[in-house]
Amino acid sequence: ELTFRGKAALVTGGGSGIGRAIGLQIAGLGGRVCVADLDRDRAESLAAEICAMGGQSVGVQADVTRADAVERMVGAAREAFGRIDVLVNNAGGASGPTFRIGQVRKLTERDWDDTFTVNLKSVFLCVRAVAPLMLAQRGGSIVNMASLTGQFPFPGLPAYSAAKAGVISLTRSLAMELAPHVRVNALAPGLIETPRTSLNRRPEQLEQLLSNVPLARMGTPDEVANLAVYLASDAAAFVSGSVMDCAGGQMWM
Ligand code: NAD
Repeated sequence: ELTFRGKAALVTGGGSGIGRAIGLQIAGLGGRVCVADLDRDRAESLAAEICAMGGQSVGVQADVTRADAVERMVGAAREAFGRIDVLVNNAGGASGPTFRIGQVRKLTERDWDDTFTVNLKSVFLCVRAVAPLMLAQRGGSIVNMASLTGQFPFPGLPAYSAAKAGVISLTRSLAMELAPHVRVNALAPGLIETPRTSLNRRPEQLEQLLSNVPLARMGTPDEVANLAVYLASDAAAFVSGSVMDCAGGQMWM
């Protein structure tokens, strides 16, 4: 039986899209959930929603690109639940103020640094803060949100693709370092319908994007969450250092 009864999870970027779906599913399976997000309202409203469903949750405002904020976030989760069994490093992204679509020649140093900081350094900071607790508990599971672009670079996204490839590599290093008590795995979603990916998109762009997806549609946040929940749970007790695709069969960009 898949259950998180007695367990506590910390989900970064948990206020929207994929992270939100993961938080809701873990709570639905009996887990206590700390929803951490840059956006305080999003974090707190999801926590309130989970509590209204009869679950246990706290919402925390946190910027996972800053070491001091990460320490405070982990302290808040620990204070609320006394333990952290699951860490989902989901915060990140390929658009918004920290990202510019562009070829390498057009990328600024600032864009490069921001993209690496939010997608890759954040994983290091969060794991550094949570791993000692998991090792002391002699158990834990970490799920890192990489991307299909970390395996097959997406044209026009060189910094994001390289940062997500870094997440995959870091996942493997951490799986070795934190074994045998802590498992570390990565997810590689393809095209997923979230608030971010549906912004400003023209129908012909979607058709072009989907021409590379054998299952001919975008995935849903819940379909990614299904895998995240599996990796986080004891059902995946012998799975560590793995990278799982959730990409509708897409194998090229
Ligand atoms: P989203 O924009 O819907 O949600 C991301 C959340 O992270 C937002 O609530 C945002 O406020 C929060 N966030 C951003 N920067 C943060 C920071 N510094 N500290 C804390 N929180 C922060 O995004 P999504 O589409 O659900 O993506 C979630 C993850 O999945 C990202 O790592 C993204 O790169 C990855 N991913 C998404 C897709 C896709 O198609 N949507 C595909 C592959 C990988």
